Amino acid sequence: MKRLALHWQITIALVLGFVWAYVASSMGWMDVTLQWIDPFGTVFLRLLKMIAVPLVAVSVMRGVASLGDIRQLGQLGVRTLLLYLGTTIAAVSIGLLLVNVMQPGTRADLAQRERNHAAYESWRANPDSPGSPGNSQTTAAPATIPDTEGPLQPMIDMIPDNVVGAFSEAAMLQIIAFAILVGVAMILVPAERTKPITDLLMALDGIFLKIVELIMRGAPFFVFCLVAGKVGGLAGDDPSRLLGMFETLGWYSATVVLGLVLIIGVVYPVLIKIVRPDVSIRSFFTAMAPAQTLAFSSSSSAATLPVTLECVRDRLGVQQRTAGFVLPIGATINMDGTSMYQAVVVVFLAQFHMIDLSLTQQLTIVLTATLASIGAAAVPSGGLVTLILVMQSVGLNPAWISFVVPVDRLLDMGRTVVNVTGDAAVCAAVDRWVE
Ligand code: ASP
Repeated sequence: MKRLALHWQITIALVLGFVWAYVASSMGWMDVTLQWIDPFGTVFLRLLKMIAVPLVAVSVMRGVASLGDIRQLGQLGVRTLLLYLGTTIAAVSIGLLLVNVMQPGTRADLAQRERNHAAYESWRANPDSPGSPGNSQTTAAPATIPDTEGPLQPMIDMIPDNVVGAFSEAAMLQIIAFAILVGVAMILVPAERTKPITDLLMALDGIFLKIVELIMRGAPFFVFCLVAGKVGGLAGDDPSRLLGMFETLGWYSATVVLGLVLIIGVVYPVLIKIVRPDVSIRSFFTAMAPAQTLAFSSSSSAATLPVTLECVRDRLGVQQRTAGFVLPIGATINMDGTSMYQAVVVVFLAQFHMIDLSLTQQLTIVLTATLASIGAAAVPSGGLVTLILVMQSVGLNPAWISFVVPVDRLLDMGRTVVNVTGDAAVCAAVDRWVE
C-alpha cells in the first residue's frame, strides 16, 4: 500500500490534535494532556530549533561562497530585500483595505464602544493610570528600550561582538551577518586554500538536512501532541471557551483570515506568475505543503526554517546557493502575515474605541507595521510583542492588545503559514536571477 504523503499525515495529526483538545477539555483530561502529551510538542520544537542555528550558519556560508562573485552577491542581496519589502507593503495595504471595508471594530455593542472611548479619553489625560486590562504588564515592554538608542541601533545590533555569544543566544541576524562575511571571504581567498572548508560545509549541510529529515519522520506524532497541548491549554476545562473566543472576536478574526487568504491566494501567485512563469502555482504549493503544515502547528517561522529549506531546495528545485541565502534572511525579517495582522489589529482597536484614524496615521501604520514585522522574532506571538510599537506610533494605548490576546494563538498559526510561504515565494522569484 502506498504511504500517505507526509503533509497529509501532518494535516490529519493537526485535526486529531484539535479534536483531542476539545474532547480532553470536555472530559476533564486537561491535566493528563498537559503533563503527558504537551511535553512531546515542546521536544519537537526544541529539536527543530536545535538544528536551525547550525543549519542556517552552514547554509548561508555555502550559499554566499558558491556565488563565486561579489557583484552577484550584491545584486542578489538588493533584489531579495526589495522583494521582501514589496510583499510586506502589499500585505499591510491589504490589511488596511480590509479592516476599513469590513469595519470589525464597529460591530461591537455601541454602549461598549462608548465606554471604551471614555476609557481612552481618561488614558490620554493620564497615560500612567491603570485604566485598561493588562496595562501595567503590556506597557512595561517598551520601557525596556533605552532612550539612548539612536536610529542606527538596529544596524549595530546586527553585528555580533562575540560570535560564540551570537550562536549561544541564537541571534539569527548576527549569525547571518557573520556567515555572510565568512562566505565573502571564502570567495576572495584562492579556491585551493578554502577547499577543505568548502568540502566540510557541504558534508555538514548534508548531515544537518538528514537530521531534519529524521525529526520530520516523527512529525505527525509530534504535531498531534503540539496542537493537543497548545490548543488544549487555551480551552482549559471549558471547551466552549474555544468557540466563545471566536464568537466575540469573530469579525476581527474573519478580517485577519481573509487578509491571510488574499496574500496566499493572490499576492504570491501573482509574484510567481510574473517572475517565474516556468513554475506552476500548483507545484509551488504542493512543494511547500510540509513546511506550511509545520508552520501552522508550530507558529514559528524559525522552527520551520529547516523544513522550508528542504522543501524549497529538494521539492521545488531552487538552487542551494539561492535558498541558503534568501530563506534564512526571510525567516528573520520577512513576515507578511504578521505585518498585515498588525495593521488590522491597530485599526480594529481604534474602531472599537470610536477613534478615527487619519490618512497620515494609516500611512504611519504602513511604515511601523513593516518595521515591526521585520523586528518581530520568528517565534509564537513574536508579532504580538512588536504590535505594541505600532499601537504607540499612532497614539493608541498598547494595553488594549489584551483584547485580541484570546484569539491570538489561533491567528498566529495562520500568519506563520503566510510568513513561511512568502519567504519561499520570494526565494523562488530571486532564483531566476541566479546563474
Ligand atoms: N509566529 C510568527 C512567526 O514565527 C510571528 C508572529 O506573527 O507572531 O512567523
